[in-house]
Amino acid sequence: MPELPEAERARRTLESALGRRIVDVDDRDSYVCRPHPPGEIATALTGHTLATAHRRGKFMWLETEDGPALGLHLGMAGRIVVDPEDSSRWDRFTLGFDDGGRLVLRDKRRLGRAVLNPDFSHVGPDAAEVGRVEFRRRIGAGRAPIKARLLDQRAISGIGNLLADQILWQARVSPKRLTGDLSMSDLDRLRREVRAAVRSAIRKGGAHTGRFIAARGRDGRCPRDGHRLDRDRIGGRTTYWCPACQP
Ligand SMILES: [Zn+2]
Repeated sequence: MPELPEAERARRTLESALGRRIVDVDDRDSYVCRPHPPGEIATALTGHTLATAHRRGKFMWLETEDGPALGLHLGMAGRIVVDPEDSSRWDRFTLGFDDGGRLVLRDKRRLGRAVLNPDFSHVGPDAAEVGRVEFRRRIGAGRAPIKARLLDQRAISGIGNLLADQILWQARVSPKRLTGDLSMSDLDRLRREVRAAVRSAIRKGGAHTGRFIAARGRDGRCPRDGHRLDRDRIGGRTTYWCPACQP
């Protein structure tokens, strides 16, 4: 499932479509394009030129010159492809450009989204960019297991199940620790490891590349000390951690 690193790589792919003018739009998949009926996105975007590509958490959007913004989400298995050589039966949404190129949301599972002028008011700040004071406030408040809080996209956005386990292992924090019990230095360390884990995952190609992720699994052992990993459901998701170095 795409997390922040996958969305950031997709955003970088979107950059190769900037400066190009939209001449046609295939928005006939009314599930992927909900709530827009077929033709609505096409009418709004045709004739406009893509200007900038942004991301917050797992959400991406393209601004146009003098026109509406286009929000894109990869869902569980979507990919952004710019100038593909062939069409695919999994192409759910397509922008065609005046130079003959195309931008495609290719998604086998059909859980991606394309939407005009997306509303991000319910989405927290991006996990890779949130400031120290805001991180302390948003992550340290209340009494939730820290793993559940990291997954709460309203608190900060972009962290999924794998990245959360990787971050907590790097920061040597148990996923069951309660947010209100974390000290300022715990929270600051956690934020450093959020940024480090995200940067590494973007560079290496995704959340699955983390050192701890390779060890995650039944009979998994801690890459740091060889201790057998614990496993439980926390925040609704299967969670692994090392009881020795994540007290
Ligand atoms: Zn360990």
